[in-house]
Amino acid sequence: MLTPADLAFDRDHIWHPYTSMSAPLPVYPVTHAAGCELHLASGERLVDGMSSWWAAIHGYNHPRLNAAMKNQIDAMSHVMFGGITHPAAIALCRKLVAMTPERLECVFLADSGSVAVEVAMKMALQYWHARGEPRQRFLTFRHGYHGDTFGAMSVCDPDNSMHSLWKGYLPENLFAPAPQSRFDGEWDERDLAPFARLLAAHRQEIAAVILEPVVQGAGGMRMYHPEWLKRIRRMCDREGILLIADEIATGFGRTGKLFACEHAGITPDILCLGKALTGGTMTLSATLTTRHVADTISNGEAGCFMHGPTFMGNPLACAVATESLALLETGEWRSQVAAIERQLRDELAPCRELPMVADVRVLGAIGVVETTAPVEMAALQRFFVEQGVWVRPFGRLIYLMPPYIITPEQLTRLTRAVCDAVKNPSFFRR
Ligand code: PMP
Repeated sequence: MLTPADLAFDRDHIWHPYTSMSAPLPVYPVTHAAGCELHLASGERLVDGMSSWWAAIHGYNHPRLNAAMKNQIDAMSHVMFGGITHPAAIALCRKLVAMTPERLECVFLADSGSVAVEVAMKMALQYWHARGEPRQRFLTFRHGYHGDTFGAMSVCDPDNSMHSLWKGYLPENLFAPAPQSRFDGEWDERDLAPFARLLAAHRQEIAAVILEPVVQGAGGMRMYHPEWLKRIRRMCDREGILLIADEIATGFGRTGKLFACEHAGITPDILCLGKALTGGTMTLSATLTTRHVADTISNGEAGCFMHGPTFMGNPLACAVATESLALLETGEWRSQVAAIERQLRDELAPCRELPMVADVRVLGAIGVVETTAPVEMAALQRFFVEQGVWVRPFGRLIYLMPPYIITPEQLTRLTRAVCDAVKNPSFFRR
């Protein structure tokens, strides 16, 4: 049980994500989680609307995921990956190669989403170096988010991730305006022009285009037209530029397809996966690429890919990821995500009429209410907890991405709380 002294220690000594150490916002102690519920130390139970940031797709404390971890622990929880391999990594990579597009054959395992992005960017840089034609710039969209390490940050939205703080240190990449053609709207050919101009102007410097396919997540929860991906794929092919798809958030069914690139029927040259890879139980990521990219890197000056984290291919994480993928292979997620999408559309639609609401958008198991003013985080968070739900808004975005196993009744609790929240102007800054 947690005492007031424990919580005081937390407040005084422990950083939480994107938080002030001197004036931290309140945190809510969770003692355990099961199914779609988080259990607070106070005894309250909250319906989870966040899947722990896109990760816990099968819900918490899943018996099959737990069993996979317990079995693996008894064999070994970790062993180095240099000069050693193990059944857990092989089983996982077999599944990843089988479930992703055919051209993606070579898998690099790492520890987190940000590192998967670093690995992808490094692959692109080494690819061009090996071709004797070094290229060191990346082209991306504004309003993107790719992680918090420096390479990843250099392709995040320059304003949201405060590039001004790192000026002179952060590589300066190329930013096209964020897509305007909406996922559910008409494709507007004019949308493409600034991106195409940037690509043409820098075609001999650009190592790769990097993007989040179809849904820009933490940089704005924006959902854009899949035609964008087809066009970018074509432009990259024409110029020989690599395409990196960051599916760390969108992968494993969240948008209604197993991978968001499927909305456009394209295959990237490099694919980043993370978050839901382990069903939200452990940290693990994978960067997949083509034989052509892998061979080019391997035949270059270094003779190898220059990366190798200590916990690469962690057996415990690989074992639970394999089981999470086995759960996805049953295909049940398709009807679950489709049902969540229908319900989110129906139940969030009434928000559209409210004065505090700028936009409502839904795709797959993602529902977003964009408000006209930034949220008062502490007050709104407290309101959600009082309503028995866990929803973590940011900026002008209140969004839901529940575990796929959520029941209709649980989802209604979430949507009702969101609709009630946006009726109350005191939850928003003036
Ligand atoms: N890419 C995308 C699209 C993400 O949403 C995130 C995490 N929100 C990351 C990369 C970084 O992943 P991690 O937090 O595991 O480093």
